[in-house]
Amino acid sequence: MDIPSVTERRELECDVLVVGGGTAGTMAAITAAEHGASVLLLEKAHVRHSGALAMGMDGVNNAVIPGKATPEDYVAEITRANDGIVNQVTVHQTATRGFAMVKRLERYGVKFEKDEHGEYAVRRVHRSGSYVLPMPEGKDVKKVLYRVLRRRSIREKVRIENRVMPVRVLTSGGRAVGAVGFDTRSGEFVTVSAGAVILATGACGRLGLPASGYLYGTYENPTNAGDGYAMAYHAGAELSGIECFQINPLIKDYNGPACAYVANPFGGYQVNAGGERFVDCDYWSGQMMAEVKREIDSARGPIYLKLSHLPDETLTALEGILHTTERPTRGTFHSGRGHDYRTHDVEMHISEVGLCGGHSASGVWVDENARTTVPGLYAAGDLACVPHNYMIGAFVFGDLAGAHASANLGPGRGAGNAGDAGGAGALPEDQIRAAHELIYRPLRHPGGPPQPQVEYKLRRFVNDYVAPPKTAAKLGIAVETFTRMAGEIAGMGARTPHELMRCAEVTFIRDCAEMAARASLARTESRWGLYHDRADLPERDDAEWFFHLNLRRRDDGAMEFVKRPVAPYLVPVPEFTVPEPVPEPVVLATAPEPAAAVATAVASTGQGGRPRPRPVGRPPRILELLELAETGPDLAAIRPYLDDSDPKVRRAAVATLTEVVPAGVGGALAGALADGHGSVRHAAATALRELVEVLPATPELREELLPALDSPDAQVRAAVLDVLRALRLGASALYAAALDDGDHRVRLQAVRGLVAHDAAAEVARAAADASREVRVAAAHGLGTIGDPDSAGPLGGLVEDADPLVRAAALEALAGVGCPPPLDGVAVAALADPAWQVRTGAARGLAAAAGDAAAGPLIKALDDPHLDVRKAAVIALAGRAGTPEVAVALGRACEDSDADVRAYARRALADTAADTAATAAGSGG
Ligand SMILES: Cc1cc2nc3c(=O)[nH]c(=O)nc-3n(C[C@H](O)[C@H](O)[C@H](O)COP(=O)(O)OP(=O)(O)OC[C@H]3O[C@@H](n4cnc5c(N)ncnc54)[C@H](O)[C@@H]3O)c2cc1C
Repeated sequence: MDIPSVTERRELECDVLVVGGGTAGTMAAITAAEHGASVLLLEKAHVRHSGALAMGMDGVNNAVIPGKATPEDYVAEITRANDGIVNQVTVHQTATRGFAMVKRLERYGVKFEKDEHGEYAVRRVHRSGSYVLPMPEGKDVKKVLYRVLRRRSIREKVRIENRVMPVRVLTSGGRAVGAVGFDTRSGEFVTVSAGAVILATGACGRLGLPASGYLYGTYENPTNAGDGYAMAYHAGAELSGIECFQINPLIKDYNGPACAYVANPFGGYQVNAGGERFVDCDYWSGQMMAEVKREIDSARGPIYLKLSHLPDETLTALEGILHTTERPTRGTFHSGRGHDYRTHDVEMHISEVGLCGGHSASGVWVDENARTTVPGLYAAGDLACVPHNYMIGAFVFGDLAGAHASANLGPGRGAGNAGDAGGAGALPEDQIRAAHELIYRPLRHPGGPPQPQVEYKLRRFVNDYVAPPKTAAKLGIAVETFTRMAGEIAGMGARTPHELMRCAEVTFIRDCAEMAARASLARTESRWGLYHDRADLPERDDAEWFFHLNLRRRDDGAMEFVKRPVAPYLVPVPEFTVPEPVPEPVVLATAPEPAAAVATAVASTGQGGRPRPRPVGRPPRILELLELAETGPDLAAIRPYLDDSDPKVRRAAVATLTEVVPAGVGGALAGALADGHGSVRHAAATALRELVEVLPATPELREELLPALDSPDAQVRAAVLDVLRALRLGASALYAAALDDGDHRVRLQAVRGLVAHDAAAEVARAAADASREVRVAAAHGLGTIGDPDSAGPLGGLVEDADPLVRAAALEALAGVGCPPPLDGVAVAALADPAWQVRTGAARGLAAAAGDAAAGPLIKALDDPHLDVRKAAVIALAGRAGTPEVAVALGRACEDSDADVRAYARRALADTAADTAATAAGSGG
């Protein structure tokens, strides 16, 4: 392609410019539009499927659901996880607004896991706090957001420009006034004049090189190359905690998380090669990652996610989540190795280093409204320094940024439609020229070193000299190297707009690498476990370093470091003392500036634009449908595709219905359940489940769904029962009748429906079912309902021939108070040959009254199976005030299993705290 002249450009203007259409960016755009702003959303990929949520999300890591956790607990936990260096007002926003965000997403159609009674099924994954809210059907999150963006009311205010990638934020008089970038398909030069700019470009995922050696095989979405970090830095904003890297556990040789969060509630856990659990840390943090790395490097390595001990149906359910959501290629990866969860545990490793606020703390410094230190510039999502903010925090801060930005536009901006500039204010031409040079210079020497080579080299240096363990000597080499590489990067060659995008990304990665090296050098202590492990300075130094380390670009181009004091806590955390009075920020010695890249003006050399390529490889009817979907069609417009003779087109029409959700979608999908082709019927069943939060629970819909209960297709019958239950449209008689269905999947849904109606007597009928899975569900259901009269049927189930049924029934005894004589049965079951049964018995005995259970539970602390010992410790926690139990728990603190040790420690600490509180209350 030819280099366009600097004046030959598409000029756009808007009130609020959002850069990055991922999690935070889409929410920012929606909120700003709802506040009346004209919004321009620039995305370098395509908003429909870009960013960390592209392939869905299997759970919310940090939901503070009333009744399950409190904002104070959450803020305290994040403060601990971040070694005290936290601006609590920001974390508090996520803690207090996360629940409303869950509700809002639900109104949009996102599905979160609920139990049979419609309560959020929050899980405790780590030993402290219950914040994980699973989304087993979360693969559609991004689709839902895109649907909302295209609602007429939002569409009228939000202009989306896909494949447009800003490279610099423009500033004037110290305020953000727009951005400059280019079209990654046509190469066209683009400027934007804006009243406020929100950066939501995600993490810097392409910093370190993955162990696989693949440039894009990163833990993070590889599109996120640190663009926002570099843009914020060059605009003069402060960044914070850049030395506190992101490192995550992941599957060895595969760029996906191991998903212990998903697997733990199903009974999976991390073990070393000796089969021992080894993680002592109670929450996700750099300490935990240090433990993981230590174990991998030790004689006890490698480490595994242990799943092979779980029953087949549990593994099938897990595969249903892990192989469809977040990283759907996971199943293919395992089968390519000839591995199956039934035969092989999953080898785990640690990821390459990256920068990310969402999983760690490295990001652009923001306040509680997502404002950066540059007026008019906001940052949200993984890019912002709000520690451990994850997905829900990205949504919350996107929302905050959208609301604040639209209410505080820069001078000269008024509400209008985002569009091509007519009367936009003058933009700084010198900055525009510099950005033009940055973007197009690789075209001037197309034969220069190609991006993959230069990027590989750059990121290998990151691994060699910046990744922990860090030392001053290595970091010094890193700074020198990255400074030198500015020249090599300026010499990269490109021939196409796509290659230009990649070359620009390498400049962002280099900027981030330099910031990471310099910040790591500046913080002369170790903190955050593996994230900032200085091998030459192994101690934490609170006296010198109980500070945020912020960095910024000075007007003369040099990098400057500021020690920002930690603000007084909103929620006290006993382990940390915030110095008082709060000291003043201290500016540290300025770091040396890398050689500036060659800057020369570029002459105009012809036309930039190229026609946008059309998608290829799909039948024309489907392409037609894809185009139609972009226009927000009604049901009548989609109907011909639903009636098409080609099942592929009908399936695509079902997918379009779920994307567009026109009026009458429920009936149309119910109709598709009767399709002659199985794949269309199953797509319709999946779609109904997916849309359950937005389908109107009307009698009409009920009538439209009921005929499908007579479908010869069991998958359809099961889905309809599930949807009727979730919409509360089914009477208990309907589920009771389905208990006689010939297919166990339908009977399982029938049990769930009956549990939702608290119909214990009907659920008890399923105790005699021929299927083991149904009997297990019946046992769990009876425990959930908790009707004391269920002790009878549970008494039958604890004698079942199948150990997994016995295990479930014994565990369910806890729900009905474990009354005599069943407590005796549970005690006897502690000697069962199957470890699952012994675990169930220990869990059931947790609810047994009196002291009779204590002795057998103490004995169970010597059980050879780690899960039995863990269940026994947890069951004994409520009895820790008894001297012999306390002694036994003291012994358990030395157990070889990390979970057993941790629960024993917690039980003793909680009891000591209760005793002290009682003593204080009685004046003792
Ligand atoms: C593998 C993985 C698993 C995760 N699992 C969970 C989980 O189970 N639960 C949970 O709560 N959280 C999870 N998270 C975290 C969560 O997904 C993120 O915190 C959140 O999605 C971040 O949102 P974001 O908007 O900052 O980034 P993204 O959603 O990634 O959006 C960034 C967007 O910016 C675009 N972009 C980048 N640069 C530019 C540019 N120069 N111009 C234009 N556009 C640009 C990108 O294409 C992308 O669309 C996970 C993250 C990962 C990577």
